[in-house]
Amino acid sequence: MAALERVVHCLDRAHAGGFKTKAFLGALETVRTVPDDELQRRADTRTLTELPGIGDSSAKVITEALAGGESPYLAKLERETQVPISEAARPYREALRGDCHLHSRWSDGGATIEAMARTAIALGHEYMVLTDHSPRLTVAHGLNRERLERQLDDLAVLNEQLAPFRILTGMEVDILEDGSLDLDEDLLERLDVVVASVHSKLRMERQGMTERMVAAVASPHVDILGHCTGRLIGKRDPSTFDADYVFAACAAYGTAVEINSRVERLDPPAELLALAIDHGCWFSIDSDAHATGQLEWQPHGCERAAECDVPIDRIVNTFSVDDLLAWTAAS
Ligand SMILES: [Zn+2]
Ligand SMILES: [Zn+2]
Repeated sequence: MAALERVVHCLDRAHAGGFKTKAFLGALETVRTVPDDELQRRADTRTLTELPGIGDSSAKVITEALAGGESPYLAKLERETQVPISEAARPYREALRGDCHLHSRWSDGGATIEAMARTAIALGHEYMVLTDHSPRLTVAHGLNRERLERQLDDLAVLNEQLAPFRILTGMEVDILEDGSLDLDEDLLERLDVVVASVHSKLRMERQGMTERMVAAVASPHVDILGHCTGRLIGKRDPSTFDADYVFAACAAYGTAVEINSRVERLDPPAELLALAIDHGCWFSIDSDAHATGQLEWQPHGCERAAECDVPIDRIVNTFSVDDLLAWTAAS
């Protein structure tokens, strides 16, 4: 099972997505329900593929894993799916101590909080901020009050188990049309780090969108402005807003501008990032991971940061956890 999980992780980090990843996820689902001795017997008699969801590739990985030692299929995949990083971007990645935007199965992520945390630990992080979606984003199973409170209880337990690693509490809160936030004040107050993002009405006219974003950025609860243009490269144009005004507000209210590392986003685009630097903004290089493999995407954001010469000391997730918390409290 661990071997199959690792295959899915590798495929995710290489953006394989689609059919292949789904196939392995299907196999994983089956393997979770089949006793080990039956798997062994089927591997011996080459009948694994008779089980639902198990194809030739997954049967191969299972057989190799059961035989012990290293699975050649997996070893090859490990090599081929390494996320590359340039010399220029490396100092950025090495400076990062955590990740401030990621999702779990509680909203639209594919992995448990614990799996995300264990991967973050393996990547050398000291902390991560869990930022599942807020209630209005129903398509992404946004968390209502009751579920968020339950999640906070779960995090307290997990934090004890995983110490000294820290899972900071957070949410990716929707910026509603009028600029208000999709979460009650008392809950916003309780969270360590709040990422605020626009997910609806992305085509709003410029003036309205500017006011909407500035209102959110000015909230004392908001720490990071997520994927500011909302663009999906090749699929969705960036929203239009007065970037000068929005970044001036980010700088004035101490809200970091996220450098979103997802390849389909790479948000903000270079020219906007340069503008945010001019305004003296804070930044956060985040994976916005929805699966463990995607936690390895920060190098994409680091490339963008290197390209635009973002000052490393303005990147809040290079801070220690205590400094990050002090920063969120002060800004
Ligand atoms: Zn988002
Ligand atoms: Zn997100």
